[in-house]
Order: sequence, then structure tokens, then C-alpha cells
Amino acid sequence: MFQSIRKRLNSFIGSTEEQAEKKLAEQQAEEKLTEEQPEQEPTEQAEKEPTEQQAEKKLKVSKVTQVRSALSSRLRLSEKDLDGILWQLQLDLIQSDVAVETAEKILEELKEKLTSQEVEKNKLDSFIKNSLRETLIDILAPEKEIKFLELIRNSPKPVKILFLGVNGTGKTTTMAKAAKYLMDNGFSIIFAAGDTFRAGAIEQLEKHAHNLGVKVIKHSKGADSAAVIYDAIEHATSKNIDVVMADTAGRMHTNINLMDEMKKVCRVNSPDLKIFVGDALTGNDAVEQAREFNKGVGIDAVILTKMDSDAKGGSALSIVHETKKPIILVGMGQSYGDLKEFDVNWFVDEIMS
Ligand code: GDP
Repeated sequence: MFQSIRKRLNSFIGSTEEQAEKKLAEQQAEEKLTEEQPEQEPTEQAEKEPTEQQAEKKLKVSKVTQVRSALSSRLRLSEKDLDGILWQLQLDLIQSDVAVETAEKILEELKEKLTSQEVEKNKLDSFIKNSLRETLIDILAPEKEIKFLELIRNSPKPVKILFLGVNGTGKTTTMAKAAKYLMDNGFSIIFAAGDTFRAGAIEQLEKHAHNLGVKVIKHSKGADSAAVIYDAIEHATSKNIDVVMADTAGRMHTNINLMDEMKKVCRVNSPDLKIFVGDALTGNDAVEQAREFNKGVGIDAVILTKMDSDAKGGSALSIVHETKKPIILVGMGQSYGDLKEFDVNWFVDEIMS
């Protein structure tokens, strides 16, 4: 998991450390050279100075030397020192599915942190790692945190959740996984078969529902999606069901009809949580889709699927940075139990360790 980005971030840490050590060595060599300058021939005046004054001067010189050797184990990186390394990092991030704007923001923040203070030689490693870590955590900070389970617990019932996303990203499977997660935590669920467009979508959802023992509200293929979801909400209200999970159609996100349909679904049903489901393996496509759904209907949160596979990890950074919406859950496999609440520290540890 995340091998490629991890390798690249570690290479950045190594190169920065190397550059800092090189700078320190040059700094020390220069200091040594200054210290080794031959002492000046005593001037006539100095010869006339009483020995007491000469001794005092010598003492001062030796103190300066001591201070110098103390200073020489510290250094401060400059922008110039980091130019080449940051350029390489930018390329590496882009190749790890980080969007260009997000990569630029990471570089900017990292440069500021790394050049902000003097560092002791033996603290270089932790200083560089912490600067990178803090930068990544900042990038992953949404405008508003959402803890999924807590939100469900604290919202008036039924909680209406809409799952949005392009076909094939894992939307239906994720809905089933999220249902299992909530059922395991004591909540009752009903599904709304809101994808009335794709052939087989209703049956696919019914299969998951059957496996989990969840009721599905459905109309026939081609029916009005907003009406199906409306019926499911009515049913949940009358039966005291805690959560309505609505599937939606997922043809191309750039399709105007789809966005119009989603807008209608939202207008009619006022969902409490609009979750965009993105496939972490699709990199920048997932970021682009999140942007479009956010522009079209305004998303509240993100679930990234297939994080267990060969995901490069960059799309997580970009989606949050670009939409400012939190990743709440991540898909970690094909079974119903393979879903976990997203934790920023876990993710940063994974891509940096
Ligand atoms: P939908 O068209 O968006 O509803 O996508 P599906 O739910 O049908 O999922 C498409 C494929 O992705 C299926 O084979 C799922 O098993 C698989 N899938 C979904 N989530 C994950 C995940 O987190 N990890 C892995 N490895 N596969 C997943």
C-alpha cells in the first residue's frame, strides 16, 4: 500500500538531510580556515602592551573559537539549498497522483517550514520529517471535520445519506460496507435503489441487501430517482429506521443530465450527508470527479475506495485540498468488513514510514 509515494517521500527526506550535511561540512571547513589563519605578527604597539593586556586578548580569542565550534553544529537551510530537491519532490508527488496545485501548495509550505529556523545537526532528521509530516497533515485538514459514527449518532432520524460517484468506483459495495458498519454499531438501515439508469444496478444492490438483511425500496429501471429515495425516507420515518442509504446513478460525472438528476434528488429529499465515493486507483480522475460533484450538488464528505490495492495515495491529499471536504471512510478490500474510519495520522504514517 502506498509504496511509490512512500519511497519518494523517503527519498526527499534523505536528499534534504544529505544537502544539510553537505552545507554543514562546508560551513565547518570555512570556520576552520578562519581559525587557522596565521596569527598576526606582533605589532610594535602590541609589543609595548603589558603582558596582562596580551593575556586578556588571548582569552578573548579562545572564547571566540569556542563559540565558533558551538555554532558549527547548527545550520539553517536556505531556499537555494532546497531548490533542486523541491523540484524533484514536485515531480515525484505528481507521479504519485497528487494534483499540480496540491503539489505546489505542499512545496510552498514545506519550504517555509524547512527554512524557518536553525537546526542542530543531531536534530536534522526529526526536523525534516516533522516539517513534512506537519505539511501533509495541514493539506489533509478539511474546513469541517466529520466523524461518521458520531454524526449518525447525533443526527435526528432518519439520517438521509446520498452516495454519489461514477460507476465502477465501488459506490454500491461501499454503501453495503457502510451499512454493515452502522448495523454493527446498533443502527437500523434501509436502502433506496436510486440508480435507476444502469442495467443491473437495482439487482446488484438487492444482492448486497439480501446478504446483509437490509430492506430495499425500489422502483423499476428508468423511474425517477428522486421519487424512489423519497419513498425510502417515508418508509424509514414510518418504521423508525435510523438511516436511509441512497444509491444514485453514476454515468460520466461531466454528463449534464446526471448533475440535473442529482440536483433534483437533493432538492426533493434534502439529504443530511452527500458522500462522494472515489476510486483511489484512478488518481487525478477521482479528484476531477470530486470537484465536479462538489460543483454540481455540493458534497459533504468523501469515501475513498480500493486503498488496499496499488493506490499511490496522492488522490487522498488532492481531494481534500481541492474540495476542503473530509475523507470519512476508506475502503480497504472487497469484503463487507473492509471499511475503516479515515484517520489522518494513520494515513500520514502509512505514506511516510
Ligand atoms: P459501483 O459501480 O461504483 O457501484 O462499483 P461496485 O460497488 O460494483 O464495485 C466495483 C468493484 O470494485 C467491485 O469488484 C468491488 O468488489 C470492488 N471494490 C469496491 N471497493 C473496494 C475496495 O475498497 N477494495 C478493493 N480491492 N476493491 C473494491
